[in-house]
Amino acid sequence: MSEVRVRFAPSPTGFFHIGSARTALFNWLYAKHTGGKFVLRIEDTDKERNTEEALKVLIDGMRWLGLDWDEGPEVGGDYGPYFQSERQSIYDDYLLILKDKGRVYKKDGALWFRLEGERYTEYDEFHKAEVEKVKNAPVIIEDAVRGRVERTEERDFVIVRSNGEPVFHFVNVVDDIAMGITHVIRGEDHLSNTSKHVELFKALDAKVPVFGHIPLILKQTGPGKMSKRDKGALIEEYEQRSFMPDAVRNYICLLGWNPKDDQEKMPIETIIERFDFDGVNKGNARFDETKLSALNAEYIRELAISDLAQYALPILESNGIDIASIEQPYLLKVLELCQTKIKALETLFGYIHYFFQDTYEFDAKGMQRIHKGVDPKVLLNEIMPIFESMEVYSKDELEAKLTTIAEANERKLFAYFPVIRMATSGLSGGPDLLPMLSVMGKVRVLPRLQSFLEKL
Ligand code: GLU
Repeated sequence: MSEVRVRFAPSPTGFFHIGSARTALFNWLYAKHTGGKFVLRIEDTDKERNTEEALKVLIDGMRWLGLDWDEGPEVGGDYGPYFQSERQSIYDDYLLILKDKGRVYKKDGALWFRLEGERYTEYDEFHKAEVEKVKNAPVIIEDAVRGRVERTEERDFVIVRSNGEPVFHFVNVVDDIAMGITHVIRGEDHLSNTSKHVELFKALDAKVPVFGHIPLILKQTGPGKMSKRDKGALIEEYEQRSFMPDAVRNYICLLGWNPKDDQEKMPIETIIERFDFDGVNKGNARFDETKLSALNAEYIRELAISDLAQYALPILESNGIDIASIEQPYLLKVLELCQTKIKALETLFGYIHYFFQDTYEFDAKGMQRIHKGVDPKVLLNEIMPIFESMEVYSKDELEAKLTTIAEANERKLFAYFPVIRMATSGLSGGPDLLPMLSVMGKVRVLPRLQSFLEKL
């Protein structure tokens, strides 16, 4: 068998929709699975919408998801150019071939593609005009996902508009031929175009590629298809919200594909190995934010601490922390303490900020709460000598000393915890307290306790 060549052929619109990302991903997976080539072709014939920025959003999104392409913008290749806006001479050549075969005619300034078959004329009541129809043989599409689909094209169609712009159907097919595309994997919304495309492939004596139309992605609730306005629809949003790209990619794999054993979290190598058309569903997929967030949290939990640090540093920096002054071992200890508690990197800074700055806000509700029981000043005064006398705040030693004091004052050890936590973090929740104090050490903890005492 000849080498598989698939392509992702987006029209840049200024955002990277999860549906497009899924099309790109399935093509990429199929290329990797078969050892074929993945081509990125930019269908930028709409000059108004196709700006530099729109292209950048797309390319950044592809790179963020780790979807590298073998041929296309920035990497080149033997079948270029990879922008439709630069391929006019190729379209001219193919138009000539169709003209030579007598398959093109001009009507109302536009160039039409002539279907073969028996023509007859009918009166169109709506347009008040005679229309020519063709009694054409049905096009049979052996779709790799949907099975056999039959559709008859009845009307000739425009391939070059009166302003000289070639139409999507024509350039899309010409490029697939010229670029040697063997498999066209795209959204089900294109199924209705495919019979036109097959007619064009045949008219150009080209081998018809294998088509695989992948199911729609429905929004979280209700019947509609996921639109760009729906939360979670845009890939760039996930990047801004510090999602783990591997988790997002893993999740998108499951939108319309499953490995048949209900497994969800899988390394990409496993998915590549198992990905094929028989695992692609015919039925629509539904976007599920809860599942995506859970997967994301799992990926975070499984990161090596040093990798988590690579994600944490830019987050700290963008929140105004001078990361040059952070000592690596300290950062790693903080992250180790918090890793299992963090559900999303989006909330990481809120969870760990006080480890890296001495001024922080005191949670109002938490402050009220510590004033409800025993006077927090009394509590702090009881334990200050411990924190003053110890040099290294080991968890076990802290626990032993605090327990002794608690017993002497006829309290439970936990009685001290809320006020200590509030004093040292400004929060009423966080990682386990004693390990947290141990990581922070005397340099941070003691001054915070002292100034909190004054504040009280
Ligand atoms: N430019 C088309 C789109 O964005 C490509 C369709 C196809 O993959 O053939 O939907």
